Amino acid sequence: MIKATGLIFLGPPGSGKGTQAQLLSKLAGIPHISTGEILREAIDLQTPLGQQAKIYVERGELVPDSLILDLIRERLAQADTEQGWILDGFPRNVNQAIFLDNLLSELNHRSEHVVNLEVPQEVLVERLLLRGRKDDTEETIRRRLQVYQDQTFPLIEYYRQQSKLCAVNGNRLPEEVTESLTKMMKG
Ligand code: AMP
Repeated sequence: MIKATGLIFLGPPGSGKGTQAQLLSKLAGIPHISTGEILREAIDLQTPLGQQAKIYVERGELVPDSLILDLIRERLAQADTEQGWILDGFPRNVNQAIFLDNLLSELNHRSEHVVNLEVPQEVLVERLLLRGRKDDTEETIRRRLQVYQDQTFPLIEYYRQQSKLCAVNGNRLPEEVTESLTKMMKG
């Protein structure tokens, strides 16, 4: 029996997936799991994970899968995910997506929708420069967009083949995007 169904956000950096994932998590009363947030917190607290992840995050590269996979396994196994969950920033490459598929079947969970928030490249750069997070320098932004293109973009095809992909226009007002996403979750 399926215990929980979840939503995966795939969009590129600057697509607004963090904002939307957080909002939907409040609206639906299910946890928002952001690997980027978990890593930033670990870096601030200088935990062993944070110390290992710092250099990659600062460069705009993906941290090694070995640092992320156990963390996701532990997080999804917690009791609060049984009503559902929203993953933001995971999976980021094909290896992580295969791991997640296996983990979800082990836990009797299922991913229902995989959302790709579509935003033109020039809008992404503009938004990221305005956001001003620590890892949002011009050089890292360019690197992160390249890493997205090379490693995360192939997941669009991966999930399209599983008939789970939902493309959503992210180049609109945040509340318009939220409305489309809530409709999608209900329908
Ligand atoms: P985000 O907040 O999702 O933009 O993530 C910020 C940074 O954290 C990324 O640029 C990566 O360095 C790292 N990161 C977040 N999620 C992952 C992941 N699933 N795999 C590897 N690195 C990640």
